[in-house]
Amino acid sequence: MFEDLRDLYQEVIFDHNRNPRNFRVIENASREVEGFNPLCGDRLTLYLDIVSGVIEDASFQGSGCAISTASVSLMTEIIKGKTESEAEALFSQFHKMTTTEGEVDMEAVGKLAVLAGVKGYPARVKCATLAWHTLDTALKNEGLESISTE
Ligand code: ZN
Repeated sequence: MFEDLRDLYQEVIFDHNRNPRNFRVIENASREVEGFNPLCGDRLTLYLDIVSGVIEDASFQGSGCAISTASVSLMTEIIKGKTESEAEALFSQFHKMTTTEGEVDMEAVGKLAVLAGVKGYPARVKCATLAWHTLDTALKNEGLESISTE
């Protein structure tokens, strides 16, 4: 059972890495933030279109390892249609899930659970959380920003 689940999780990660969702530029995005993880070399630019506190559209560009690409691809999918505070709440659930700090609401994280396995690999945690730290910066700041995990 556990092995099957792990295979399924890997399948989802491979799929999002091979065929990333929302891999495009949003022209005139309301937020545009660059994220960089020097530990692995993952780079991404996150674009958000926020209308009246709701994330109407989310996309990204950049290049990174399979974990970082799958993570940002899954993230742009899941945050679309969510309010800024719902997205912040998801960030905190995702952070807990990858660092095991406290109880995680697995129902809330949904498909993101495929990345729970990174917690056993500290170097990969930053690959998985890069997208979310970039999102956090995007939600807290207007205009162009850039962040680094180091
Ligand atoms: Zn990486």
